[in-house]
Amino acid sequence: MNIILLGPPGAGKGTQAKRMIEKYGIPQISTGDMLRAAVQAGTELGLEAKKYMDAGQLVPDEVVIGLVKERIQQDDCKNGYMLDGFPRNVSQAETLDKMLSELGQKIDHVVCIEVPEDELIKRLTGRRTCKQCGAGYHVVFDPPKQDGVCDKCGGELYQRDDDNEETVKSRLKVYKEQTEPLIAYYEKQGKLRRIDGVGSIDEIFNRIVAVLG
Ligand code: AMP
Repeated sequence: MNIILLGPPGAGKGTQAKRMIEKYGIPQISTGDMLRAAVQAGTELGLEAKKYMDAGQLVPDEVVIGLVKERIQQDDCKNGYMLDGFPRNVSQAETLDKMLSELGQKIDHVVCIEVPEDELIKRLTGRRTCKQCGAGYHVVFDPPKQDGVCDKCGGELYQRDDDNEETVKSRLKVYKEQTEPLIAYYEKQGKLRRIDGVGSIDEIFNRIVAVLG
């Protein structure tokens, strides 16, 4: 099963992806995570991408398309995969369709998680992640027992560079202008599955499972 996870930044795509990969046994392919790893590693691609990420803008299409093309052909993607944060605009979606048809593959479901904008800003600016194990927290909605320390592994929690209010606003604007048109794109293909993204993590996960089976 090949799935796309669609939705604005802060909708909970990453959180739900972690649950879904366990249930469906397919890998999560997050272009955001791949780009952050490249930034961390200080590669040329990472240095180039960082400029766009810090400004809340999209990294050029050819960069992310190259990453995805290579990744979906790896062994662990044989039984399917879940794309998280890709495609981000219609041009990426069209390139993906072409690429998949060349590989004899297709997208089965596009899960779109919907959350109102004021809720997204609250979620994003309070978001924290463990440097060591990647666990996610929120300073108000899901705080760790000890400030700044991961409950699971004791690692240090950090705030993503692009989760400050100014960059968040620009990411939401980019979503509206460039990514939201994908909803109509996939609706036309009969692949769109809308999910109400307000509620507990479990509630939202159950809604997704109810739709995907
Ligand atoms: P995310 O973790 O999905 O919120 O992505 C963080 C940042 O990485 C975005 O604001 C973009 O700058 C960049 N990025 C991630 N995925 C893509 C993509 N498919 N196309 C262009 N830029 C991307």
